[in-house]
Amino acid sequence: MADIIQVLPDSVANQIAAGEVIQRPASVVKELVENAIDAGSVSVKVYIKDAGRTLIQVVDNGCGMSETDARMSFERHATSKIRKAEDLFAIRTMGFRGEALASIASVAEVELRTRRKNDELGTLIHVSGSALLKQEPEQCAEGTNFMVKNLFFNIPARRKFLKSNSTEIKHVINEFQHIALANPEIEFSLFHNGSPIYELAAGNLRKRILSLFGKGQNTTLIPVQTDTTLVKVNGFIGQPREARKTMGEQFFFVNNRYMRHPFFNKAVMQAYEKILPPDTYPSYFLFFEVDPSSIDINIHPTKTEIKFENEQAIWQIIVVALRESLGRFNVVPSIDFDQKGSIEIPLPPKPGDLIEPPHIHVDPGYNPFNQERSGGSSFQSPWKRNELVSQWEQLYSFPEKEDVEVQIQINHEESPVPSVSTFMQLKNRYILSPVKSGLMIIDQKRAHERILFERFLNIIEERPLDGQQLLYPQTIDLESSDATLLTDLLPDLHYMGFDIRSFGPNSFVIGGVPAEVEIGDCKSFIDALLEDVKSKVIDLKGKLKEDLALEIACFSAVDYGKTLSNEEIRVLIDSLFACKSPNFSPSGKSVLSIIPLEEFDKRLK
Ligand code: ADP
Ligand code: MG
Repeated sequence: MADIIQVLPDSVANQIAAGEVIQRPASVVKELVENAIDAGSVSVKVYIKDAGRTLIQVVDNGCGMSETDARMSFERHATSKIRKAEDLFAIRTMGFRGEALASIASVAEVELRTRRKNDELGTLIHVSGSALLKQEPEQCAEGTNFMVKNLFFNIPARRKFLKSNSTEIKHVINEFQHIALANPEIEFSLFHNGSPIYELAAGNLRKRILSLFGKGQNTTLIPVQTDTTLVKVNGFIGQPREARKTMGEQFFFVNNRYMRHPFFNKAVMQAYEKILPPDTYPSYFLFFEVDPSSIDINIHPTKTEIKFENEQAIWQIIVVALRESLGRFNVVPSIDFDQKGSIEIPLPPKPGDLIEPPHIHVDPGYNPFNQERSGGSSFQSPWKRNELVSQWEQLYSFPEKEDVEVQIQINHEESPVPSVSTFMQLKNRYILSPVKSGLMIIDQKRAHERILFERFLNIIEERPLDGQQLLYPQTIDLESSDATLLTDLLPDLHYMGFDIRSFGPNSFVIGGVPAEVEIGDCKSFIDALLEDVKSKVIDLKGKLKEDLALEIACFSAVDYGKTLSNEEIRVLIDSLFACKSPNFSPSGKSVLSIIPLEEFDKRLK
């Protein structure tokens, strides 16, 4: 029999690579602008037509290319930036695979005009679907001018896959913002269909933030600066009172490259804990500088999620740095209620110190509302009491034993934690408990959502969850787009303890669910999950785990109307205050509130 293996032609190989690197117009903008910056430009102009479907043009005043380099730049693995494999680990420039231009040229019509400073004539090159159509000398400005026309003209399926113009332009703006923030010393402009969206003068970071996000920030940006052996952190954070209802202006950069980092985002939220108005998110623009060999950027240009070697330690450094800044700018004491001293700031780690990583203790098999288990005397809270007491006290300095005595004793039991010994359930909805400054109200459903959410999240991050088989496996049928989406989610769901298998083209069988979850109707659960995932257009993948955890937590949290036993209430409170963010439910609603004593005094005057 004849041999059957063949090497793919370059044009096909390039298209395959383009599938990864060039997903939409925004990817082209990112690659071209990053190249312009690498070329040492001080001014970069971006012109977009029809959200990038018809034209993406990037004009720079950088070093330009020789005729040969201009031609070479479209070859795969052609790069002036890496010479040897080790360079990959020390890389500080933007693009680094020599793949971008080859990929773009394989899925669009590209015109390149480029001239080096000392060359009299520049070069014009036309490439379309990887084919060189024209190469000739041309009179042109110093620097480089790329025009990318009719993106995906030769891949109708990809072109059809593009979203609405408003969505695509939003992606372009996001990429542009990331790059503009990371390079405030460069002048940038962005035009869409002839109208300017941004015209940003060169300046410093504060000015850049203001020109991108409005003057309102001016007086309110709080500088952050910290320098440790592991990481340098620089940038600005917003005042808590300026926090927004929507997550928007939150940016992390590592070695001047934009990144998403849900874990560090939590560190920021922790630093702001107790000082944010409910349901709001602070702005931040934080730049990390680390040894490039201590992060794994996965050598993939579209990757925005980055793994750090010292994540736990950096987490602490962030909390410390931000609290210091917030403290220095007097944000904390004015808002914090009933605090005698200043907020507690852990000492920054010294080089060589062993740092205790922040963590939650989790018993995935444990359910605080599982009657059989919570009733017995062998009952054990999954959290260590002492740890709990200190967290609890730190948060809300609880009444002394004598104080408790004068209060009406409801649900009182002997307990090693005197502070949570007094509570009552109101209307099967709220839990009331006296605290030093007044009366604390906890929303039982939201509290349980928070507990489950953190537990699930932790589990997804750490290890798979046990599943329990359903007595009667359920079959569900989905539309084909939903089926594709669900198929993508299956590995994550499986990890969380779901046993879902594909069964025929658009059908699935649900054979098991996580041990903690009572889902009831699987179809509505899956529908709700898919809806939730679909409605988040941006950065879907990164948030997926949180979305899953959130969806499951909300679905399986104890509902209002359920009478809780004393032990259940205690466990709920214990578990809540063992959470990283007990104050808010995972969807951002307040879990608890304190009615101050003065309020009582006022009412009874
Ligand atoms: P990479 O950026 O990973 O090297 P690209 O495919 O993006 O790969 O670019 C290939 C090469 O083309 C670059 O290494 C650089 O030498 C050259 N190049 C691309 N864009 C520009 C530009 N705007 N100005 C000067 N040279 C450029
Ligand atoms: Mg590049």
